[in-house]
Order: sequence, then C-alpha cells, then structure tokens
Amino acid sequence: LLAIRDVHKSYGALEVLKGIDLTVEAGEIVGFIGASGSGKSTLLRCINHMEAPTRGEVLLEGETVGVKKVGDRHVPRSSAELSQQRRKMAMVFQHFNLWPHKTALENVMEGPVVVQKIEREKARAKALAALARVGLADKADSYPSRLSGGQQQRVGIARALALEPQIILFDEPTSALDPELVNEVLAVIQGLANDGMTLIIVTHEMRFARDVCDRVVFLDKGRIADIGPPSHIFGATANARTQEFVRNYY
Ligand code: ATP
Ligand code: MG
Repeated sequence: LLAIRDVHKSYGALEVLKGIDLTVEAGEIVGFIGASGSGKSTLLRCINHMEAPTRGEVLLEGETVGVKKVGDRHVPRSSAELSQQRRKMAMVFQHFNLWPHKTALENVMEGPVVVQKIEREKARAKALAALARVGLADKADSYPSRLSGGQQQRVGIARALALEPQIILFDEPTSALDPELVNEVLAVIQGLANDGMTLIIVTHEMRFARDVCDRVVFLDKGRIADIGPPSHIFGATANARTQEFVRNYY
C-alpha cells in the first residue's frame, strides 16, 4: 500500500532523516518509537507530503506522493492532486487541532465538505457515522471546550475517519492527555486496528505498541535502527540501543 524509499530530509545543515526505507501493507499496524528529535514527526510529515523529502520518494498504491514523473523529470503535483493524495493519509495530531468555534460535528464535516466537496447532507451523515464509531454520537453538537481531552482527541480521530482514508497517521495521539484519559483513546485506535484499518502510530506508549502493532520501527538519529514484530523489539532484539530505549520507557 505504502512504500517509503530512501527518504532524506534536511533543514538547512541539519539532516533529520538519513535514508528511510519501509513498506507498509494494507491492514498493517506500524508503530514508530524513538527518542525526542529522532525524526518521527518529520517522517510522518514526509509520508503525506506536508514536508517534501529532500531526497527519495513515498509511493501510495504505486503513485509518488506530491510529485509525478513527466518524461524523465519529476514535477510537483497540482494542489488538487496533492490534496486528493493527502486525503488518503489522514493525520491525527498530538494537540487535536480542532476548530474551537465549531461543534464536534462541524469539525468532522469540514474535511468531507471542503476537501472532498461532498454535499452538506451527505457529509453530515458521514460525520455522524464517524462520531458514532469513536463513541461520541451524543456529543455531536458540543464545542471542543466542553469536551474532555480524550473526547477531543476522539473527535480528531473521527475527523480523520470521515475522509475515508486508506491510512491514518497518528503523531503521539495520547501524549497531551492526562493519564486517566489515555485508555479511551487507545481503545478507539485498537478498535480501528481490529477493523482492519492501516495505521501508522508514533507513540511513547510502549505497552500499546507492544499489544497493538504488527511491526515496530525504532528510529535513532534519523535512521531505522531496528525493526520487527513486538516480540523482537520488546524481547529478542540484539540491538543494544533498542534494549536501552525500551528499558527506559517501560
Ligand atoms: P519528539 O519525540 O520530540 O516529537 P521527533 O522524533 O518527532 O521528536 P522531529 O519533530 O521529527 O522529532 O524533529 C527532528 C529534528 O528536526 C529536531 O532536531 C527538530 O528540531 C528538527 N526540526 C523539525 N522540524 C523542523 C523545521 N521545520 N525546521 C527546522 N528544524 C526542524
Ligand atoms: Mg514528534
């Protein structure tokens, strides 16, 4: 479904990603773990082309994201094409990024109406279904300020779901939450995993990564230092850096 090929990203002289190669199959749940500054968020932003890689490419269903080949040249895609590609890779952010002056329902409808140009009544039905899926059907008319952090993040997940993406990218979806609110959000993500969604999740919740992910990627200074099923990363790995990282976080 997704292929990341030799992706590099630099900011000026700072080389943040130093050649990332990874493929993700449909239905797979992939976790990214790694120290602060190792490039996890940058990699997510390169995947959906919020940032253009300095080198390398990302392919979604065989199509390069953000650029296309014309003859033997790479040219940027039109903004319409890019937003069509981005819609297939919805992002859920650490700080929810909800509109404060819109209700939960209006926040979730925004994508279908503005990005997909779906008529309002259909968008409304989609948005209500997405809110129901995250257990918030009864909060459709609430404003974010009246919702708990966990509920706000579930609205953030519903907003991603309403775009009917092929992949959902999560950037530390629980790290802004009080500890007692983390589990309700993880339960929603677990539900999506059980439904067969393809998920890429940057997380510091090692137990969640161990229990939910099919594969875990350990990023260290802009490189994939270790990768494998949870039994490898949280158990059998011979990589001393992985062992140390996992030990410190558990
Ligand atoms: P954290 O766990 O703290 O979220 P991370 O693994 O997500 O860390 P990134 O946010 O990807 O790390 O950042 C990696 C490095 O790139 C950091 O040194 C950061 O300062 C730098 N960086 C990220 N975005 C930019 C930017 N827009 N301009 C300049 N430097 C940036
Ligand atoms: Mg980050």
